[in-house]
Order: sequence, then structure tokens, then C-alpha cells
Amino acid sequence: MSQDTSAELTHLIDGYRRFRQTGWARRRERWEELRQAQEPRVMVIACSDSRVDPAQIFDVDPGEIFVVRNVAALVPPFETSPGHHGVSAALEFAVQVLKVREIVVMGHGMCGGCKAALTQSLLGAPRGEGGFIADWIGLLEDAREPVAAQFGIEGRPAERAMEQAAVKVSLANLRSFPCIRRGEREGNLTLRGAFFAISDGVLHILDETSGDFSPVE
Ligand SMILES: [Zn+2]
Repeated sequence: MSQDTSAELTHLIDGYRRFRQTGWARRRERWEELRQAQEPRVMVIACSDSRVDPAQIFDVDPGEIFVVRNVAALVPPFETSPGHHGVSAALEFAVQVLKVREIVVMGHGMCGGCKAALTQSLLGAPRGEGGFIADWIGLLEDAREPVAAQFGIEGRPAERAMEQAAVKVSLANLRSFPCIRRGEREGNLTLRGAFFAISDGVLHILDETSGDFSPVE
């Protein structure tokens, strides 16, 4: 190893070696298949938070889920303004090229992005010093109002309400994309809301009719 190796890189390389010796070798056939193409049937939109890795939580193999992770697991609305629409590009790819059958939006407990949306702690920060986060979580502005009115802006009940409201915002924004509306209408695509409670590791699924998240048995 070169002399600029850090403790962090060493930790990653150690993990890579374990992967090559165990995970990769064990699933060699699977990797051979995947060399041809990927055919994931599910897209997952999750938070970048280091504690909520969808592949780990759903215990899936390589090639099974197409994942987008960002601050607070948000989907922006369909926008045609200039700019670099990374989430929208991933959605197009998942729906139109990979033809996934389901899209799961997974929020989570103790979400820093949702907390910042609730407290508006980064409002007015310059870009590069929190401004990009403030802009991004501004997607939750409308959803924040009723949460703050009912629960205030501090404490777990308020934060959890914001975290779960954020999932519903992303689902609504997903439905602003014509290709997603069409997929739902034609029965080729199902949207799901989910919430992973970090404190007890329990996954909850949203019932869109009642608006409630219920723990998976
Ligand atoms: Zn988060």
C-alpha cells in the first residue's frame, strides 16, 4: 500500500478483501449473470444516512434493488427547469429502461435532514455552507407547517411526524412524473411508503388509505 493510506481506506480495503474471499466467491455465478445485465424489479429511494442501507435492511443480493439515496430520501417534483436533476434521471432509468415493478420510498427515524427541515436551522445559509441542504429540504416546507402546528418543532413526536410526512411528500412528487402516473394507471408500477425506525430496527409500511405507518410483523 502507498504511504498515503489512511485508517479509513484501510478499513474499506479490509472489508473489500473479506467481500472478495466470501461474498464474491460464494455468489460467483450470480456475478457472472449480472455481468450481462441488471434486472432489478424494485427501486428504493432512501436517505444517505449511514444507518439505513436498503440492501442491508432488506437483505437482498446484488442486482435486486436499484437504489437512490439522498438527504432525507426525497423525490423532487417533475420539473423542467434547467439544472442537473439527478433523482429524476434515476427515476427515468428505473421506470423506462429497467421497468421496475415497485418503487419504495423509505424514510427513517432520527433523520438529520428532516430535523433541519423542521427547525429550519439552515435557512439562509450560503451555498456550500448549508445552503444546498436548505434548498433541498425546502421540498418539505409545505408538509412542515401542519407538523409544526400540531407537535412543535422539537422532540421525537415532532421529528417522527416530519419524517413520516416526508415519505408522503416524496410519494406525491413521484406521482407528478407522467411516466409514473402512467405506470400506476396501467397497473405496471406500485408505489410504497416505508419507514425504518432506527431505535428498534423495525420497518413500517404506509397504508396510503389511512395515512398510517404500521410495523411489519
Ligand atoms: Zn435521513
